Amino acid sequence: SVKIKPLLAGNWKMNGLRTSQAEFHKMKAGLTDTLADSANIMICPPATLIPALADIAAGSAILVGGQDCHGEKSGAHTGDISAEMLKDAGATAVIVGHSERRTDHGEGDGVVNAKAQAAWRAGLVAIVCVGETEAERKAGQAVSIVQGQLNNSVPDGATAENTVIAYEPVWAIGTGLTPTAQDVEEMHKAMRDNLASRFSDAGAAMRLLYGGSVKPANAAELMAVSNVNGALVGGASLKAEDFLGILDAYS
Ligand code: PEP
Repeated sequence: SVKIKPLLAGNWKMNGLRTSQAEFHKMKAGLTDTLADSANIMICPPATLIPALADIAAGSAILVGGQDCHGEKSGAHTGDISAEMLKDAGATAVIVGHSERRTDHGEGDGVVNAKAQAAWRAGLVAIVCVGETEAERKAGQAVSIVQGQLNNSVPDGATAENTVIAYEPVWAIGTGLTPTAQDVEEMHKAMRDNLASRFSDAGAAMRLLYGGSVKPANAAELMAVSNVNGALVGGASLKAEDFLGILDAYS
């Protein structure tokens, strides 16, 4: 298998005011060369903070990303933000298809697919989220649900450079629950096989993140699972101490 540099991405969700720049300064200050070598590091703040954090991050190893984008470049879409706007504000990537977007805004795979293509159009990396609900896992459908989401949310033309996949079981997000290492291994193997068969070498090299209640205490175990190439972290990305503690698991 290919050697893949992991990505640790933090999703601040709808959290963060201008005062949160202080926490971001702490992250930057705590980022030793060893930590920075061990993974690519990204924070996805609310869109209002992207310009400020991108300025602070300039010249450091930290990347800044968006949490969502509209499929169109511009136009009559009140309240929406385009991928081009995120890029202009200093983002290098954008999360698409997060389960909170799928649930709160009724976004299906077709919408997510269009958003991923919008990200590429703007020169951003698309971080495409997939994951089953608790009921789907209990019904033994977790793998087939995620395969369907991958097939339909990830556009043709995905490469290891323009796309990252995040497996986030819905029931593990913000709950403190995590799947067993064995369940994560099974899912990531199924995703790897799917992507490698569809995208060949690009699919074999694409980063597959695990997300859902990753904390400093469980990061080492989860990151050691084969085909896990990093994490997407919500709650524990809000504090420099927690986020850097997770990064410790990579070095
Ligand atoms: C997320 O929302 O992407 C996430 C993984 O959240 P948490 O780490 O808080 O479970």
